[in-house]
Amino acid sequence: MPELPENEAQRLTLERECLNRTIEAVELGDNVSYIELPGGNERARLIGRQFTETRRHGKNIFAGSKTGPWMTVHLGMTGKLIPFDAPDETPDHTKLLIAFEGNRRLAFRCPRKLGHIRIIDDPDEYIGDQKLGPDALEIEKSDFVEIIGTTRSAVKAALLKQDKMAGIGNIWSDEMLFQCGIRPETRADKLDEKTLGASHETMQRILRTVIDTKADYKALPNNWLIRHRKKGEECRRCEGRIDHAKVGGRTAYFCNQHQK
Ligand SMILES: [Zn+2]
Repeated sequence: MPELPENEAQRLTLERECLNRTIEAVELGDNVSYIELPGGNERARLIGRQFTETRRHGKNIFAGSKTGPWMTVHLGMTGKLIPFDAPDETPDHTKLLIAFEGNRRLAFRCPRKLGHIRIIDDPDEYIGDQKLGPDALEIEKSDFVEIIGTTRSAVKAALLKQDKMAGIGNIWSDEMLFQCGIRPETRADKLDEKTLGASHETMQRILRTVIDTKADYKALPNNWLIRHRKKGEECRRCEGRIDHAKVGGRTAYFCNQHQK
């Protein structure tokens, strides 16, 4: 499931390929009954407009302009924004297709149920309505220490709560805890300030590194968990093995030796 860095890579693609072009048509794809997409009136609001800026907060991508409206995209499990130039074929599983002036197109490809596109007036208002915590790439260390350090649950579960901090999901919470040497089921409110501060630094370093690779996992260092996320694999940081367990309803992968 795309988390903060995958969404940031997608935002950068949108920023590079789809800004400052007049929107001429916004059409639905096939088989869209199970997915939330803007209705005809909302789609019509985009016609004749341009996206002049993009934003991202947690796992939400925004494209719009100072005076609005904005399109917000949640990629769900498998969603992807694919810019292309007609007459190239529209990607399969396209649920929404935006035609810009000239040949540029933007497809929202989404083979599975989760994920949505909405037309909104104001991203800040939307972020507030969704009750999202601060973005994990933007959050100050002191706020991170306060927010995570006062959560009375397993640290893995605390990192996943989007109303506490937005953007971290299953994969990158595991990576953070692996690189910090913290077991996922450790109570967040039992971690000391120094450990929490170091976790904040590790989190932001991981997120920036993944964004720099455009979320190409094979380009990430070999001693990262993501490269060996399989039960029984050798840990590349100690003599231990990778194990998994259910924590807060999710499957956490961790090293059975160096994570304490
Ligand atoms: Zn290890």
